[in-house]
Amino acid sequence: MVRERTGPSTPMEIPPLSQELLVEFTSESLILSASSRFDPKKVLRHLQGVDRVYMGIDMGGDKITARKVRIRQGEFLQEDDDLVQKSQNGEGYLDFLHQVAEISNNERLPVGLSFAGPMEEGKPQHAANMMAMFRELQTEYSGHLERVLPRLVSVKNDATACLISSSVALCREGRDFENFLLIILGGGLGAAVLQDDKIIGTEAGHLKVPDDLNPFQVREICETTKELQSKSHTCLELVAGGVAGLEKTASKVYGKRVTGIELAKMAAQGDETAKRLYMNAAGIVGHVILGLGNLFSLPLGERDHTAVVFHGGVQKAFGFPEWEADAIRKYLGRDLDNVFQTTSIVSSNACLEGAAVAACLAA
Ligand SMILES: [Zn+2]
Repeated sequence: MVRERTGPSTPMEIPPLSQELLVEFTSESLILSASSRFDPKKVLRHLQGVDRVYMGIDMGGDKITARKVRIRQGEFLQEDDDLVQKSQNGEGYLDFLHQVAEISNNERLPVGLSFAGPMEEGKPQHAANMMAMFRELQTEYSGHLERVLPRLVSVKNDATACLISSSVALCREGRDFENFLLIILGGGLGAAVLQDDKIIGTEAGHLKVPDDLNPFQVREICETTKELQSKSHTCLELVAGGVAGLEKTASKVYGKRVTGIELAKMAAQGDETAKRLYMNAAGIVGHVILGLGNLFSLPLGERDHTAVVFHGGVQKAFGFPEWEADAIRKYLGRDLDNVFQTTSIVSSNACLEGAAVAACLAA
């Protein structure tokens, strides 16, 4: 069942449109990366003839999850309980991967991995919040993940993986779109576009945040912005990202650690700071939609041309979808026709399922 989000509007102070941010949406600043051909309709047809189990892994900033996914007749079925390990800085991730390697070796399961960070030529580059894992991978395995996971056949950036599973799922539901725009607002902020049967990864989360969209004046620079972009600006992710931005800022404002769940509760109870943080993040998401829409000439709001798909923990916070809808209405002057949550079209772990599909296509 596809549920479109057309919830009631709440008149709130969404930040005004920032031209300063919109002009940042260039191919150069976004460090675009194109995938090999990916036509969701063809992929669905292929998957409809498959009945096999794959190991999907979702490697995020604060936890890593592995699941056996049976792909059968185009559906993604969970075979077993998830294996999950929470972590800071990616500590213990390689031990976890050894466990997963043992299972996938014993059961001969092809492995696909989704990675929450920038990639180059199928290899994770680095991620500020997983440095312990990268150091260990470098010293023990010369940086080769496939030496830890012998059955690893595919590694995708998380936005790309998520776009793979959700575009196929929408096709499965009979929704035929020409373009897809996927925005992840979870621990961080990521976005990818599917156009002309190509998935284009972007580093939208690391664009420079203008002061108008930085209400609590965050003045930090993330490692990705520093290393990948050789820039020294505060990026959108450090303001709008769930862990990297909202939780950190709230913890500073309140002088104690505030988790995302607590922050969402506070916003629901009307706490002004919490609401301001979320509404500002919704405004940033609105800019990402408009900025990428402009750059790729995506026909936004035209029925059955572009699907806008939202994913990530922040998207589930009370009121957030409505604030996003408000931001879109404010910046575009109208509602979007085709807005989806991955949780309503695939499972809560669309990245992991996308990684399993990618493994199926690569194996
Ligand atoms: Zn950054």
